[in-house]
Amino acid sequence: MLTPAQLEEIEARANAATPGPWKRCSANEARPEGCSCGLVWSIPIDIPIIDVRMRGDDMAHPPQQEEHANGLFVAAARADVPALVAEVRRLRRVVESYAAHAYESGWANTAAELRRLANRGEP
Ligand SMILES: [Zn+2]
Repeated sequence: MLTPAQLEEIEARANAATPGPWKRCSANEARPEGCSCGLVWSIPIDIPIIDVRMRGDDMAHPPQQEEHANGLFVAAARADVPALVAEVRRLRRVVESYAAHAYESGWANTAAELRRLANRGEP
């Protein structure tokens, strides 16, 4: 479970990153798997912001298929992470509204249980 402080830390890391959305390089779109260069680009700034492809033969590499997936994952994370933070907060507000309704209806134990479940990550 994530505490509100952890959510704020995640959000701060996302906000500090280069503006998104990001995309995996699509310079060679003729290839069915797309470009193999490994670059992930910031679309609004139009610059490469990270290279997810391992280079050199002196260390182990993930399989090329995973390198492609890694690029897609990193690019999507720029939008996915803020969306997930927002969804966690939205769902916690929904739970809190049900807890408040339960409390007002005289179901204090139900309200307490809903709040306990929603805030499990809090100390
Ligand atoms: Zn490329």
